[in-house]
Amino acid sequence: SKPPPKQIKIAPPVTTTGLTDVDVRSGMQVAALKQAVTDHLRYSIGHPPVATTLHDYYYALALAVRDRMQHRWLNTLQTNFDLKRKIVCYLSAEFLMGPHLGNNLLNLGIEQEARAALAELGQDLDIVLECEEEPGLGNGGLGRLAACYLDSLATLQRPAVGYGIRYEFGIFDQEIHDGWQAEITDKWLRYGNPWEIAKPEVAHYVNWGGHTEYYRDEAGNDRVRWMPYRVVKGTAYDTPTQGYGVNNCNTLRLWSAEAVESFDFQAFNTGDYYQAVEDKIISETVTKVLYPNDEPQIGKHLRLGQQYFFVSCSLQNMLHILSLSGVPVENFAERYAVQLNDTHPSIGVVELMRLLVDERRLDWDKAWAITVQTFGYTNHTLLPEALETWPLPMFQALLPRHLEIIYEINRRFLDEVRARFSGDEARVARMSLIGEEGEKCVRMAHLAAVGSHAINGVAALHSDLLKASVLKDFYEMWPERFSNKTNGVTPRRFLALANPGLRALLNEALGEQWPVNMEQLHQLEAKADDAAFRRKWRAIKEANKKRLADYILAHTDIELDPTWLFDIQVKRIHEYKRQHLNVLHIVTLYRRLKENPGLNISPRAFIFGGKAAPGYFMAKRIIKLINGVAETINADPDVNTRMKVAFVPNFNVQNAQLIYPAADLSEQISTAGKEASGTGNMKFMLNGALTIGTLDGANVEIREEVGAENFFLFGLTTEEVEHIKREGYHPTDCIASNSELRTVLELINSGYFSRGDAEVFRSVVNNLTYSDPFLVLADYAAYVACQERVSAAWQDKENWTRMSILNTARSGKFSSDRAIREYCDEIWNVQPATVKL
Ligand code: PLP
Repeated sequence: SKPPPKQIKIAPPVTTTGLTDVDVRSGMQVAALKQAVTDHLRYSIGHPPVATTLHDYYYALALAVRDRMQHRWLNTLQTNFDLKRKIVCYLSAEFLMGPHLGNNLLNLGIEQEARAALAELGQDLDIVLECEEEPGLGNGGLGRLAACYLDSLATLQRPAVGYGIRYEFGIFDQEIHDGWQAEITDKWLRYGNPWEIAKPEVAHYVNWGGHTEYYRDEAGNDRVRWMPYRVVKGTAYDTPTQGYGVNNCNTLRLWSAEAVESFDFQAFNTGDYYQAVEDKIISETVTKVLYPNDEPQIGKHLRLGQQYFFVSCSLQNMLHILSLSGVPVENFAERYAVQLNDTHPSIGVVELMRLLVDERRLDWDKAWAITVQTFGYTNHTLLPEALETWPLPMFQALLPRHLEIIYEINRRFLDEVRARFSGDEARVARMSLIGEEGEKCVRMAHLAAVGSHAINGVAALHSDLLKASVLKDFYEMWPERFSNKTNGVTPRRFLALANPGLRALLNEALGEQWPVNMEQLHQLEAKADDAAFRRKWRAIKEANKKRLADYILAHTDIELDPTWLFDIQVKRIHEYKRQHLNVLHIVTLYRRLKENPGLNISPRAFIFGGKAAPGYFMAKRIIKLINGVAETINADPDVNTRMKVAFVPNFNVQNAQLIYPAADLSEQISTAGKEASGTGNMKFMLNGALTIGTLDGANVEIREEVGAENFFLFGLTTEEVEHIKREGYHPTDCIASNSELRTVLELINSGYFSRGDAEVFRSVVNNLTYSDPFLVLADYAAYVACQERVSAAWQDKENWTRMSILNTARSGKFSSDRAIREYCDEIWNVQPATVKL
């Protein structure tokens, strides 16, 4: 290890504006920011005034903000090094960060200064903010959770690195063409990325394929050498992640794949030039594109390659930093707490063993103790089709050495199982890391569970179900490894930034500490009975609804009335999330209005948003169904003064920040037992929406916190769902006993919502009628009845507002700060480190 070089003090030169260079790079005042933007326009971007665009202003301000973070970032890294603190390494294949600029201004506390600086340059901050193309490096909840956790880790001053993949193309952009989803490639890097710092010198080499060889080392020990078929180079791109109101600024380190050499000179010399070019292309393909969720993983050997690539780079990087710090490798687990965000990085368990045993020559038992002590595993799904497995032949072809290590881990592990549960060979087969029924495969969830000292679910119900279902055997073996860590969301981005009106009111009512102390929101409970406060609350909500209505009008041509009830369901489109149940209610209401024009209903805007996996047939039909129903209803003068339907295209973090604050009603209507937690549900609650929901995921805890009287509960419980499935579920019985449901399904099936084409929705109706795997029809009647209660409750504006205030007041538990404190205290054992400037 090298001693750090002596610090040299250089007197800062004075510029003509009277600002010092240091001020221009780090000053937080209006004059310094203005000068910094001007400098970056000139020196970093370099367009003549005539060609300077709004995007240039965005880019220049972003660079100015990054300069301010850079200072904090380097001090954070130095502080963590000096204090020898344990570091959280959050391994996640996805980080759905959202636009950076607004959030960084907020966290640095310089929004007003930036606004004023831009105004002096003739620009409007709000318009400049819209220029940012968000990095869509995630599918939805799981990737956004990782981003919220980075925000909390920095804010709580915990040393942390988020390790992931720098996909060249993130999640596709969604357009709606004639009601159907069209996928457009996401080119988020096309105009550059001011937030990242390329670190070409931080590079690690990752092997692929080939075979293994055995040899005897100098000391006479048997060892294994991996002779790969290909080597891919990973280089680091760092994005500083600034904490709120503190100097701590952590790192998001994303790996990008390159060919080891631009061309394979040997191949070139022997004349096989095109083979050399192809190898380069193949290497760079590794981090080319993010895979959408909810598709069969068959044949996706590149995805396993991506997982291994980023995990190997990350673990090599940790080992490298450890040796720079002069810490022996035996102390790895004292310096790093590595969390597996779902099974995607679980190959890390094997890779760390390989690095310790094959490369660092630790003995197996020592290496295994370090590995288990290092890793924690967060499970995110109970859906059997979403549990990752890899076919053995594919695994063997890509990672031959890892398969050998897995066999050895498995041999030792199954011996332990047999010792604990002797004679129970059925249990041994169930728990094995290798699945033997059908095509043989590696079970990644089992690997993660065996290789981690801590295993958690993401909501109380989900953690209980984990222990009772997919990981039951593991729970019986190691009950002490299991805990619950209910998800959380950052109140900085999703309240302070997304809802400036409410932020101002909360600041006025509570002072300015609530974003880092969400328990203070409880003080709002007293205000719920104050009529003047309720009026202010309603005015803010209505302004947010107006803001969303403007956005929807601009993107869909559908005009919504902000005085109506805004009933919103935004999330990935999936049968288990049951957007089609929502549609059945809409069609029910439509029919009732057509038949009985005098019916007294609360006027409502039904708003949807979300992407479907490109290969998920039913989800794409559901999008078409929503749009078909929207087209018919919005054009029907008999009803369109009381109900309308809109589908917001391309749901992402940026428009989510407009959507959550505008909701009166949050739709969380998944089949009980299917949603692990949900985080959208929390973002709605934070912003004062009431929830209509099932007892699923974190809805259970939301209802506990807010009180049953402030939550619209309906539907089967997990036990009831399981009971019905066990007994044999017949959706036709639901139809036979409910004539209104029958009529609704017939209307959809008739082509009424598809311009007379009865084929378009036949598959959806048939699926519900003859299979209905997520019990949509079984919950239909309860859902419609619950929606009637919603409608009645809306008529009492004062009481609705009371309930809305109570939702926000009681949302403190769902701050990601609470979640991160629990992880730090109970799993990672990581302490805060104060960073000084
Ligand atoms: N997609 C995006 C863009 C989000 O911001 C969120 C937020 O939580 C989600 C998906 C997840 O939504 P839900 O938890 O409702 O499934």
